[in-house]
Amino acid sequence: MRLVLLGPPGAGKGTQARMLETQLGAPQVASGDLLRAAVRKRTPLGLEAKGFMDKGALVPDDLVLKLVDERLRQGDALRGFILDGFPRTVSQAETLAKMLEMRGEKLDRVIAIIVPDEEIIKRISGRRTCRNCGAMYHVIYDPPRNMNLCNSCNGELYQREDDAEDTVRMRLQVYAASTRPLLEHYERLGLLAQIEGIGRPEEIENRILSALGKGAGSAIAKGTV
Ligand code: AMP
Repeated sequence: MRLVLLGPPGAGKGTQARMLETQLGAPQVASGDLLRAAVRKRTPLGLEAKGFMDKGALVPDDLVLKLVDERLRQGDALRGFILDGFPRTVSQAETLAKMLEMRGEKLDRVIAIIVPDEEIIKRISGRRTCRNCGAMYHVIYDPPRNMNLCNSCNGELYQREDDAEDTVRMRLQVYAASTRPLLEHYERLGLLAQIEGIGRPEEIENRILSALGKGAGSAIAKGTV
């Protein structure tokens, strides 16, 4: 399954991508995680990207495309992937289509997770991320057992620099201007399904699986097709 998850920052793309990995047998490929890893390692690409990320602006295409292309060539992504945070513009979507076409592949589906802006601000300001394994928590909705430590790996929890409220508002503006037009793009290609992103993570996962024809209620899951 070659899947793209679309949606504003804080819509739950990362959480859903991680949950879907097992169900779909395909790895999450998150452009934001790839960029943050490059920043942590202080690679030339990471140092160049950091200024854009701290402001909540988009990182230039050549940098992002290099990281995503390298990642999609790794063995585990050759038979499928769940893209999270990429593409973010129509131009990135067109480049992705060409990248896949050269390998004789194409996208199977694009799922857009819809969440209103005010809900996003509430979610992101309480978000904490594990520096070690990337697991995410929320100080109110999904608190870790210890406020500073990851439940799974004991790594340090931190608030991403770009999760400050002003930067989140900027990221939402960037989403509206650059990424939302992708919905229409993928709708025209007949690939888009939109689902509501409010509810428990398991409920949202079920909506996504139903949209993919794999939900508990779908004909495929019941074995009737
Ligand atoms: P995310 O973790 O997806 O919220 O991304 C964090 C930041 O990384 C964004 O605010 C951008 O600065 C940068 N970024 C991630 N993915 C992309 C992309 N596809 N194109 C440009 N910039 C990106």
